[in-house]
Amino acid sequence: MARPDIISLRGLAAGLIAAAFFIGPTVSARADQMTYYSPGDPMFDGFTARCDMPVVYRSTWHGSLAEHDDAGRPVIVLDLSLRLPARRFQRNFLLAHECAHHLLGHTSPDAVAMRRTHGAVVAAQEKAADCWAAQFLGQLGRDDEAKAMAEFFYRRGTGLPGGGYPSGADRSTLIQHCWSAAKKQRLASALSSFQPDSGTRLFD
Ligand SMILES: [Zn+2]
Repeated sequence: MARPDIISLRGLAAGLIAAAFFIGPTVSARADQMTYYSPGDPMFDGFTARCDMPVVYRSTWHGSLAEHDDAGRPVIVLDLSLRLPARRFQRNFLLAHECAHHLLGHTSPDAVAMRRTHGAVVAAQEKAADCWAAQFLGQLGRDDEAKAMAEFFYRRGTGLPGGGYPSGADRSTLIQHCWSAAKKQRLASALSSFQPDSGTRLFD
């Protein structure tokens, strides 16, 4: 596996997740390190309808990765620590974030090559994946997870983490906006499709 072109860990506590969102090499996931998702593992409703790809748990310093397996199929890799119940909001956001990297074409050979040489491409891809993930959670009504992730990034402050990654504060702001827009659409849609039956008294 090629060495990541990013990632600086700020200590163990922040490290696992702080270093997340690295897009790995396109074809190099090692089968002997992989444990495929099984039905007993946590997964949120609605995920597979948009992201029909296996999820692999293994120990990784990157927190989460968008990779391909040896057959070239898209795979999402999550660190084992993300199976902890207390990390539910991070796990679900990262599932969506890495899914977005695949769906948005960020893991194609050309996109990966561009990412490795252009910091601006890294920033653009990370923002796009963050926004997609926040909208996805917002569409599904998983507002607490989107808000928790925005707060998580906010606490990382305005400093640039390196490797072309946006600051935590910038990511937080973007996640808030993308989630909020999706939530408004969800609520408007629910309102427009609301059909009270004739026997219902709406107001007393
Ligand atoms: Zn990412």
